[in-house]
Amino acid sequence: MGVYLLTNENLNQHAQDILSRLDDQKKKAISAQEVAEELEKFLEYGVPVKQAKQTLLKKFGVNTSVPPDAVDRTLLADLQPNTRNVKLVAQVISVNPKDIMVKGQPKTIFTGLLRDESGTLPFTAWDKPAINEGDIVEIANAYTREWRGKVQLNFGNQVMIEQKEKDALPKETFEPKKVTIDEINPLVGTVEITAKILSVEEKEITVDEEKKTMYTGALGDSTGKIPFTAWKDFGLSKDSTIHIKGGYVKSFRGMPQVNLDENAEVKKQKKQIKEADIPTRSLRLFEVDDNPGLFDVHVSGRVIEIQQGSGIILRCPECNQVLREEGCRVHGKVDGIPDLRIKCVVDDGTGSVKTVLNKDQTEQVIGKTMDECKQLNPEELQSLMNKSLFARVVIMQGNALQDFYGSSFLANSFEIVDEDVEEKVDQVRSALEELA
Ligand SMILES: [Zn+2]
Repeated sequence: MGVYLLTNENLNQHAQDILSRLDDQKKKAISAQEVAEELEKFLEYGVPVKQAKQTLLKKFGVNTSVPPDAVDRTLLADLQPNTRNVKLVAQVISVNPKDIMVKGQPKTIFTGLLRDESGTLPFTAWDKPAINEGDIVEIANAYTREWRGKVQLNFGNQVMIEQKEKDALPKETFEPKKVTIDEINPLVGTVEITAKILSVEEKEITVDEEKKTMYTGALGDSTGKIPFTAWKDFGLSKDSTIHIKGGYVKSFRGMPQVNLDENAEVKKQKKQIKEADIPTRSLRLFEVDDNPGLFDVHVSGRVIEIQQGSGIILRCPECNQVLREEGCRVHGKVDGIPDLRIKCVVDDGTGSVKTVLNKDQTEQVIGKTMDECKQLNPEELQSLMNKSLFARVVIMQGNALQDFYGSSFLANSFEIVDEDVEEKVDQVRSALEELA
């Protein structure tokens, strides 16, 4: 601590230094003595002089950002957590608004993905950044934090963004990466893969009041399955095997998916991938936590907790959100529509995952319809749910999702395994592994 305490003379010098950088109006509003006192407060708390000065300058409205020319560019792969004044040259792969709650208030922030010759990295911006998908940009005065052991890149309010030409990045930056489906994660950027179309569906959507046709479905190869979205008509048909070059990967609803836009090349392959060679992967629950979200997989485990919010609930007729006592968070007091669900935690000894059983699954598990459940008092319903599900071993097939709130499992099929449960699970697992 003593290291940071200064003589009065030194303190005065630093205060004068700060004062000299303020605009005329602020200079009149504050004396050197007051600046020195504020500075001293920081120093007493052990804040280094340099940092204390920066903080005070900011407080007085002085732009403390470093001119971009004064800093060297960092490659995305070399970024360290908790670094200020970060400078990058990168291509914008995606940028999307994201609605979050900050201290109970809804706020729209922006998230996206950047890439350079070293790799890809997500970013977060609190205000709409002046960038579009595909832009090559120099980003200066960004900063990094650490989140769940990973580097998180932020554009703060001092960020400076400058458009660049394509030759600002080496050519290999734009080469798609050859991958198999199990190697795909939300940070892989653009990819080259060969896969079979397991399903495809045409959808009409409205973007900026303009009608658009998109195609969604699933792809499979010998390592797994993944959803895709095509923003243009590539003539995709179910069961055909295609080679994709230049599709980009983006996380959507907690799961990576392959996006095909006008930059993607899609070619039909003569050599077909057999459906039987495409596995429905069987995962231990620690793998669900370690992976970025997986499409159509099996998991199993024991129900170790039935959570609050299970049973009869009311949903908002406008937005389908679960109502609280005071109504819908967005639509206020509304006449709720009843629904039935069970929120539970499934654990297999290696890890655990949260899952929500929908009305049909809940009715099946507890052996009563929603109307019959409405006749029960809450304690009776609670004890029926406990009796039917607590400590039982279950097998689920569906999607493992990984989002801001952690991992969860969206089960398309949910089955309680009866009698000799452990043994049955082992049997099912080995059966599944043989299939795979
Ligand atoms: Zn609502």
